[in-house]
Amino acid sequence: MSSVPEIQIADGVAIPQLGFGVYQVPPETTRETVTTALEVGYRHIDTAQMYANEQGVGDAVRTSGLNRGEVFITSKLNNSFHRRDDALREAEKSVERLGGPMDLFLIHWPLPTIDVDYLETWKAMIEIRDAGLTRAIGVSNFQVPHLQRIIAETGVTPAVNQIEVHPYLTNEAVRSYGATQGIATEAWSPIAQGAVLDDPVITAIAERLGKTTAQVTLRWHILRGDIVFPKSVTRSRVEENFQIFDFDLTDADIRDISALNRDHRTGPDPDTFDYVPV
Ligand code: NAD
Repeated sequence: MSSVPEIQIADGVAIPQLGFGVYQVPPETTRETVTTALEVGYRHIDTAQMYANEQGVGDAVRTSGLNRGEVFITSKLNNSFHRRDDALREAEKSVERLGGPMDLFLIHWPLPTIDVDYLETWKAMIEIRDAGLTRAIGVSNFQVPHLQRIIAETGVTPAVNQIEVHPYLTNEAVRSYGATQGIATEAWSPIAQGAVLDDPVITAIAERLGKTTAQVTLRWHILRGDIVFPKSVTRSRVEENFQIFDFDLTDADIRDISALNRDHRTGPDPDTFDYVPV
């Protein structure tokens, strides 16, 4: 039923290129929100231990009438669990909450300035995969030197790197290094949490095509080859964000949107971010 293309990532795993993000979806309404997304047709959900809503994601899938294998679920290791033993224990808890092994498990942030080396954490992720708790492993918010280091030290390349990417932060250096290594890029905050929706260049393209600025921006990501999972709790927007495969952008449109880059982050800088919740 879904027209969403799949991207082949490491370990023989295929991921739907469009998914649904649940950052800031309250735990008590996550089941309902994810149920709506599954009804609309999404088959890829992006959650995290930090979002405190894995249980709601698991419950929605369990009660959806779909087989667990029909929905791709990503979760992420919390910043406070970078030590090996903590990572293994908490991965098992994620599996329990989600109702079975994850499809993809990521280190949420590299935290290069804390006293636990992210190399230890990456080695733990390899153990987590080898123990069957997840089908594939990857990272999030890793910069090029972080990627180079974990690959050189372990010989294991992350399947994906989930980084902030949108028209105001095209993040080309990290994306293109990933491409050379076979690391798929996942673009978080794909519409910059709404900041690009009034942009005149994107608005003009959207008006010409009879689409919304959100749809044009998401289509731009898809045509660049990135994986996206916009978040909304409003059914009409959840539907709107899913209707992005029935139109195309010209090469000039893609160039014009990419030229909007101003290296503007909506989130923290991965090189200095050291937030470890207590
Ligand atoms: P987003 O770019 O998806 O924007 C979400 C905001 O835009 C919401 O406030 C929503 O109300 C609004 N919106 C969504 N669709 C709209 C539409 N069609 N029209 C108008 N407004 C619309 O931002 P996000 O939620 O930060 O990012 C998406 C997902 O990325 C998250 O849910 C999470 O899964 C992931 N993420 C990961 C990290 C990380 O560190 N790995 C960080 C942030 C987000």
